[in-house]
Amino acid sequence: MSSRKLIVGNWKMHPASAEDAKRIARRARTVAAKLLRTNVVICPPFPFIFAASSRKPAANFRLGAQSVSIEETGAHTGQVSAGMVRSLGAEYAIVGHSEERAAGDTDQIISRKIARILDAGMTAIVCVGDGSRTEDGAHFDHIKNQIRDSLAGIPAEKTSRIVLAYEPIWAIGAKEPMSSADIHETAIFVKKTFADIFGPEAGLKVKVLYGGAVNFRNAAEIIQAGQVDGLLVGHESVNMPGFVELLKAVDHIE
Ligand code: PEP
Repeated sequence: MSSRKLIVGNWKMHPASAEDAKRIARRARTVAAKLLRTNVVICPPFPFIFAASSRKPAANFRLGAQSVSIEETGAHTGQVSAGMVRSLGAEYAIVGHSEERAAGDTDQIISRKIARILDAGMTAIVCVGDGSRTEDGAHFDHIKNQIRDSLAGIPAEKTSRIVLAYEPIWAIGAKEPMSSADIHETAIFVKKTFADIFGPEAGLKVKVLYGGAVNFRNAAEIIQAGQVDGLLVGHESVNMPGFVELLKAVDHIE
């Protein structure tokens, strides 16, 4: 299971209706069941998590949430707790996405959300990413600080339920992904940073995903040349023929 590729679909604020969510999730579930080397997680908006679930357990397919509240319970209007999404069947939750960071989530907030996710028995998909790259390599410091500060206080025994997603901000929603050579270099850096915090064994085991302008045409190449453990896919994850093709292309990688 650990060498299987992990493809996470971040649906963002799509699709428009629960009916569409059901249809897209059903298709992803059916395709996932036939995959040999790939696990799939889809992360619908909160109200559609239940619509995307099925009574029968599905092979190679899991549900996730796109965020959770920093709080566990209480008077927090508009908030959704990790325990609530877990009770709907979500086993993963994205945290620290650049769109949430831009809306005010600091590394400190992200670390508290990770704690909630882990306490609820779920796996946290922790997003990190730089906004620009410069010759002096300052972006590496930025990524390192994000990893260190977001994971502050997380006990080493829980790191098997952490997935890291590296997403260069300029590539999110863009036409082209980052170059595979740069993805490879950064993925190694992300793993090394994790190993420096939690030890070499944790560093070897942690999955590092790439996200940013991934589609069915470039997905396999990014995994192979970028040498990442999987992908965090935005717009292509709700584009049904495209997502199915992407899953098949990734599953062909030996
Ligand atoms: C994302 O939002 O995490 C993402 C990777 O988006 P896109 O695939 O659309 O670039």
